Amino acid sequence: MRLDACSAGVPACMFTDVLVIGGGGAGLRAAIEADAHGAKVLLLTKGKLGHSGVTAIACSDRMAFHVTLPETEPGGPDNWRYHADDIYVIGGYVSDYDLAETLARNSADAFYFLDGLGVPFVKKGGKPEQFVTDGSKYARACYTGPRTANEIEAALVRRLRQTSVRVRENAMAVELIVDQGGKAVIGALCMDMKSEEFFTIGAHSVVLATGGAGSAFKVNVYPDGMTGDGYSLAYRAGAELVNLEFIQIGLSSVKTKLACSGSLMRAVPRFVNDDGEEFLAKHFPAGTSPLEIHTTVFRKGASWPVSQREPSRIIDIAVSREIARGKKVFLDYGANPDGFEFDALPEEIKRRYESEKKVPITDGKRRASPLCRLREINPDSIAWLREHGVDLEAGDTIEIAPAAQHFQGGVKINCLAETTVKNLYAAGECAGGQHGANRPGGNALMDCQVFGKIAGANAAQNAKQRSGDKLSKRTIEERCESVRRMVGKDSSEAASRVRERVQELLSSAAGVVRTEDGLREGIVEVEELLRAGVRVDADGMVFALETQAMLNVAKMVMGAAQRRKESRGPHLFFPSPDSTEPLPIDEENWRQYIVIARRDGEMVFERRKSVPKAGSDF
Ligand SMILES: Cc1cc2nc3c(=O)[nH]c(=O)nc-3n(C[C@H](O)[C@H](O)[C@H](O)COP(=O)(O)OP(=O)(O)OC[C@H]3O[C@@H](n4cnc5c(N)ncnc54)[C@H](O)[C@@H]3O)c2cc1C
Repeated sequence: MRLDACSAGVPACMFTDVLVIGGGGAGLRAAIEADAHGAKVLLLTKGKLGHSGVTAIACSDRMAFHVTLPETEPGGPDNWRYHADDIYVIGGYVSDYDLAETLARNSADAFYFLDGLGVPFVKKGGKPEQFVTDGSKYARACYTGPRTANEIEAALVRRLRQTSVRVRENAMAVELIVDQGGKAVIGALCMDMKSEEFFTIGAHSVVLATGGAGSAFKVNVYPDGMTGDGYSLAYRAGAELVNLEFIQIGLSSVKTKLACSGSLMRAVPRFVNDDGEEFLAKHFPAGTSPLEIHTTVFRKGASWPVSQREPSRIIDIAVSREIARGKKVFLDYGANPDGFEFDALPEEIKRRYESEKKVPITDGKRRASPLCRLREINPDSIAWLREHGVDLEAGDTIEIAPAAQHFQGGVKINCLAETTVKNLYAAGECAGGQHGANRPGGNALMDCQVFGKIAGANAAQNAKQRSGDKLSKRTIEERCESVRRMVGKDSSEAASRVRERVQELLSSAAGVVRTEDGLREGIVEVEELLRAGVRVDADGMVFALETQAMLNVAKMVMGAAQRRKESRGPHLFFPSPDSTEPLPIDEENWRQYIVIARRDGEMVFERRKSVPKAGSDF
């Protein structure tokens, strides 16, 4: 690698063939592949490699990696085609079918690569165990346990250390540098997170692998720092983004970030607010029996993310409405919900419960309380919660709220992981178009590996074809100036205040209950904040730049959500604030995705047909 300082007054400048921005599953896989193709690669990451981002840090009760292996259901040489169909059909027909096919066809290769690196997937008789996840038809989910993602990250970091990839830690990409004609990316302006000094990296190809933007929501289960920088960087560089209104949201513990799904629902706890009121019944249609309510709670265990296609969405709506009227909401395992009778539950539910028993108890105890049932079907969750400060045995309740877990959309890519801007690639959660409105659990970790590899290979290939485009001193100076302007207006609000506000706005206007009025008011406020600008405060320059990115993300998410006049996936659009039912899905007019881009300095939203399955009437 050439490492040469530019002329005086210009930030230190380095040059590489391929710059990978992000050190999660997608970024690591891209860097490893680009290196294998003979490119000089530099990987830049906020924080320390292996210790920042979702892949490195997030965990849940059993993290899933979806894969279609030769033996995977429903079997046969074409079984990966069922996987592609599920991504597209369950996704709601608003993703590109060719990308779904790419994911499914390459999933086995991705699995074998990780297996070869020593990721400890659970196996039986030499074959990986596979189970059915939220929103899937077939058992495709492989796992190592609660830390599948972290183990993938660790294995990839070990592999990366054996390559010639250079790593720049604790550094943030703050602006992509485009050429004079504004058509191609030629590098990135970056900032050292400790010294807050700018530096530049010239690159033939840039891979964006910056993950999602969960931190832009007040309630989320992401680790800190996931502020959607990649979405904002791509948008400002002129790339298209897609499907940003589709964000996976589900009920989670506010204190511990634990997704409250599976057995935590199948124990059928009481849903109470801070007045002690058991509130679910009043959000169900009049005349709904307690048995129907308890059955819905049980079924919520198998449909954690809110979705238009799941009747259990009524529970997310009920919780959201309670929070919107200023209440806190809790799961109480100390006593049965009103009118609960275990014996009255439908046979199919009792069979499901039966299959989960780990520490069998007496019939009497099973009928006595949700805590007894949770002890029977998932004692580990009680222990885990206790370790994290919530002691159900001592009478604690779990405060819950709808939390963001995954951005289904992102920077629009094609099958080569190319974005709509030359030399710019995207992979993983930062990329969009490969998932639809719903994302069957397990496909995100797989996506990072499949498109990470593709992005790395094509970025390396592209770099070979380009010769020595240089960053001019003027271009760099201009970019530094524009970044300083972005976070340095006198009239602007302090970054910490803006961040708090944007997080509140996104969680309230673009959470579970979305209304025309709420979204319109949210957009007006975000636009005002964007106009006024973000002022660096005691939290520093990096914090301010991240907050600026969050504002762009908020405008894109709310703008897309406001335009989609139907409900699909997690996007529940209510005609008015007091309507009890969201609009239905509108297959005739809305089997389309919304593409976002910057044209003449303005954010534009365009409805477009996604790539369909060839020769089918999907
Ligand atoms: C609690 C939880 C549970 C989940 N469970 C599952 C599951 O079971 N199965 C599944 O398939 N998916 C699951 N997901 C989703 C999945 O884990 C993520 O989508 C995936 O790990 C994202 O990987 P990534 O490489 O795209 O991004 P990340 O792993 O988030 O990495 C992003 C990287 O980019 C860096 N970065 C960001 N901005 C910048 C910048 N400006 N400059 C430099 N670096 C930057 C970050 O520091 C980080 O290194 C879960 C997510 C969560 C939060």
